[in-house]
Amino acid sequence: MPELPEVETVRRGLAPVMEGARFTKVETRRGDLRWPLGKNFAHRLEGKTVTGLGRRAKYLLADLSSGDVLLMHLGMSGSFHVFRHDGDKSLGRYYHQRAQHAAHDHVVFHMSSGAVVTFNDPRRFGSMKIVPRQKLDNEPLLKRLGPEPLGNEFDAAMLARACAGKKTSLKAALSDQRVVAGLGNIYVCEALYRARLSPKRIAATIAERTGAPNERAERLVDGIKAVLNEAIEDGGSTLRDHKLTDGELGMFQHHFRVYDREGEKCRTPGCRGVVKRIVQNGRSTFYCPVCQK
Ligand SMILES: [Zn+2]
Repeated sequence: MPELPEVETVRRGLAPVMEGARFTKVETRRGDLRWPLGKNFAHRLEGKTVTGLGRRAKYLLADLSSGDVLLMHLGMSGSFHVFRHDGDKSLGRYYHQRAQHAAHDHVVFHMSSGAVVTFNDPRRFGSMKIVPRQKLDNEPLLKRLGPEPLGNEFDAAMLARACAGKKTSLKAALSDQRVVAGLGNIYVCEALYRARLSPKRIAATIAERTGAPNERAERLVDGIKAVLNEAIEDGGSTLRDHKLTDGELGMFQHHFRVYDREGEKCRTPGCRGVVKRIVQNGRSTFYCPVCQK
């Protein structure tokens, strides 16, 4: 499932062909993805210009010249492919190494930039929705999302406030989109590892009784920002590399330090621990029981 860095990589890959370009034609090959696309979906896009392509948590937000915003979510298996009429394959296939079958090309954007942007989604958990910009604050999909982890406002004080009094594990707290938006299983594991905090630790223990942050909260925020920034950086280099090769892009290679490394040696210098896998709330957690306390 795409996480925040992958979505940000997709945004950076789509921006050059979508920003400033007009939808000349929009094909919807079925009426629904996760939810119905809505009446007039194509009509509300055709002829409109994308004035900006942004991201909130794992949603892409295309601002349109009409005052509408097109919300797009990759779901479990969604990907975008960019094809260019001029044969320039410099921007290729965004996200996911699965077999791409035209039967799963559900939405096709023909852009005035000359690019054809196809949304492919075999499992159809992805979604697209058009919302007037002035109603975005009340949009149910976005309304309950917590702070953006890479935003300036997300700091130790904010995270400690959100965790104060919480009896759940740190893993569960960080996976809660109201505490911090866009973090999934992989990056929660990686961030806890960087912060040297056990995923089983009670969330409230990163705050003082007053709700003020302690040193653990500082470490955790640093860890979250570091893993996300590094993964976005990896995604960016994949985009650059692909300009030079075949124009097709799968999921980029991350260098996970703890995720999916059960039974392997901990990578913390001097630590003799072995990565352990446990199941929390139905999801695998990977951590080092020696250096993560
Ligand atoms: Zn360790």
